[in-house]
Amino acid sequence: MEQIDGKAIAQKIREDIQAQVRQLTKPPGLAAIRVGEDPASAIYVKNKRKACAAAGIYSEEHALPASTSESELLALIDRCNRNPNIHGILVQLPLPAPLQARHILDAVAPEKDIDGFHYLNIGKLVAGEPGFVPCTPLGIIALLRATGVHISGAHAVVVGRSDIVGKPTALLLLHQHATVTLCHSRTQDLGAICRQADILVVAAGRPHLITAEMVKKDAVVIDVGIHRLPGGGLTGDVDFEGVAPHVRAMTPVPGGVGPMTIAMLLANTLQAARAV
Ligand code: NDP
Repeated sequence: MEQIDGKAIAQKIREDIQAQVRQLTKPPGLAAIRVGEDPASAIYVKNKRKACAAAGIYSEEHALPASTSESELLALIDRCNRNPNIHGILVQLPLPAPLQARHILDAVAPEKDIDGFHYLNIGKLVAGEPGFVPCTPLGIIALLRATGVHISGAHAVVVGRSDIVGKPTALLLLHQHATVTLCHSRTQDLGAICRQADILVVAAGRPHLITAEMVKKDAVVIDVGIHRLPGGGLTGDVDFEGVAPHVRAMTPVPGGVGPMTIAMLLANTLQAARAV
């Protein structure tokens, strides 16, 4: 079994981005907006900004209190939309109630929507037109490409239909000419469907949902799930030890999809800066 080294693949992409940024006359700029005190969100934003700094991308963080009103948040997004030094805007999710993520995300200028969450970019993805695509699904496709997987004609099974991971991943695989099956919590006999997969992408948020008897021999498995273990450390949606002997290649957790998500955020920010 080949362990797909997301960390190394992401590092190479980040070095390429750094080299491209150096050639620009003005650095790309990212505004990260965070509302409330969610500790995980604070860590995610910190890591994203660290990655920006390493790539030569300017970043600024707007950390707002949980009491922020919708109009205050919209006013900040409007300022970032009009700021010529800012090319990408990310609003870290989840937003605390009563803020409505959909309303806020659609206020981000589509050309600065480096997370690909604006309705216009979702529509472009469905239509197969160029636009911003969410970072984790982009990272999944980049991992498959780097592993030399033939997507065209393959049966790709995606477990999970979230707007952030499952659905956009299914669409990207479809545009790459895979035959795609999208599974979710109401899917009957998940194992029987997963066993048909040449490419199995698991983003269900359920630790070790996928076990050895649910995979086809020589499948390529991408594990998107991230779960903290009680004794420390991380695990995924796939029982790595059990599944590994049966498949051709698989991503570990950590060190698989996670590092790719950040690399793709940098790639999208560079793309946004280039388009100006
Ligand atoms: P969501 O909770 O938004 O979606 C989970 C999806 O999985 C839903 O569509 C749900 O179905 C489906 N599902 C849940 N249980 C089952 C089951 N038993 N069988 C089949 N399908 C099931 O999660 P996300 O998409 O946001 O994230 C998924 C995982 O990926 C999480 O562990 C998250 O932490 C991780 N993640 C990792 C990232 C990375 O960079 N590595 C980035 C983003 C997420 P239904 O729609 O019917 O409820």
